[in-house]
Amino acid sequence: MVSLGTPLSPSATRVMLLGSGELAKEVLIALQRLGVETIAVDRYDHAPGHQVAHHARTITMSDPEQLRALVEAERPDVVVPEIEAIATPTLVELEAAGQRVVPTARAARLTMDREGIRRLAAETLGLPTSPYRFCDSLEELRAGAEAVGFPCVVKPVMSSSGKGQSTVRTAEDVETAWGYAMAGSRVAGTRVIVEGFVDFDYEITLLTVRSRRGEETVTSFCAPIGHRQESGDYVESWQPQPMSEVALRRAQDIAAAVTGDLGGHGLFGVELFVRGDDVWFSEVSPRPHDTGMVTMATQWQDEFELHARALLGLPVDTSLRNPGASAVVYGGVEATGIAFDGVDEALALPGVQLRLFGKPESFTRRRMGVALARGENPDAARATAREAASRVRPRA
Ligand code: AMP
Repeated sequence: MVSLGTPLSPSATRVMLLGSGELAKEVLIALQRLGVETIAVDRYDHAPGHQVAHHARTITMSDPEQLRALVEAERPDVVVPEIEAIATPTLVELEAAGQRVVPTARAARLTMDREGIRRLAAETLGLPTSPYRFCDSLEELRAGAEAVGFPCVVKPVMSSSGKGQSTVRTAEDVETAWGYAMAGSRVAGTRVIVEGFVDFDYEITLLTVRSRRGEETVTSFCAPIGHRQESGDYVESWQPQPMSEVALRRAQDIAAAVTGDLGGHGLFGVELFVRGDDVWFSEVSPRPHDTGMVTMATQWQDEFELHARALLGLPVDTSLRNPGASAVVYGGVEATGIAFDGVDEALALPGVQLRLFGKPESFTRRRMGVALARGENPDAARATAREAASRVRPRA
């Protein structure tokens, strides 16, 4: 039996989000709806999640001492990592001392860089991935690129959203890719992964939920989400992505294997490449995924409600309600406290919703909002979502 308390009282069920961006903001809202007391943590003040939580805290989450001090002071029932750049060894220690971490501290640790999860997927679980090498110097990268073959993709091990990532077509390009990766890494002087380029037909995010049903843990899948990336960053997504039955079953088998190994309860975003009936594992986030924002327009329970329910030990329903799409609204300007013109024009389109994240500072390529659209089919929804996003005009 699961029981939930009253927020701001001694009975409260208290959940701490480590990371308070746009995804955390929606998880916090889902938790608030169930009367959970929420603590939103980020590295800067007035982050999106700070604005909707009972308590807002600002610390450097990659600093082990600051992280430990905050968790020990707040004593939440559950800690929910929402970003990768966290002192995850501290989470492992806290978990060993009895602190619950979602889905598990090990999942947060293995997915905080590209190496842990890639080795787990390819070497321990034997899942299909692109060929890869890890390299610590330009010389190693030259050899690694030759080994996986051209074209190949070079990425800092400590990075996400395409930062420092580039595609290398010939041996002459390797040095540029190395320099770019070093500049784009989250942590100075770390290694890179070089991966063989997968010439996929399309790529998907398979949202996978591990939840409780009585005493058992069950795994459920959302309909596959298709998405388009530019410079390693998602610009639009849609659901459902049509797939062959064989490819869908393979994708679900891969997702079940990797999430089963990571364990715990919660929602995972499993990223896969698909060509015909072949499927390659790329990455997994043990938390809601940016491309999954589309589920706010397509599912009875969006990815945020699914994560909230699963981490609280509640049942979930991953079924699709209707096709839909999402399109990112970028800042377009470098300024603080920007305004968004044309919101009325965007919302005048039928079946459109908007999320403006409330980020205090805008950069040209910073994701400041998202347009969401329902549609007869994914293509129609994509056209509507793109049109809606283009009608929103950020200005300084
Ligand atoms: P990642 O940060 O690893 O998710 O990469 C961002 C995007 O780059 C992916 O969503 C793909 O569109 C593309 N990409 C990454 N790795 C590869 C690869 N090995 N082959 C082809 N495309 C890739």
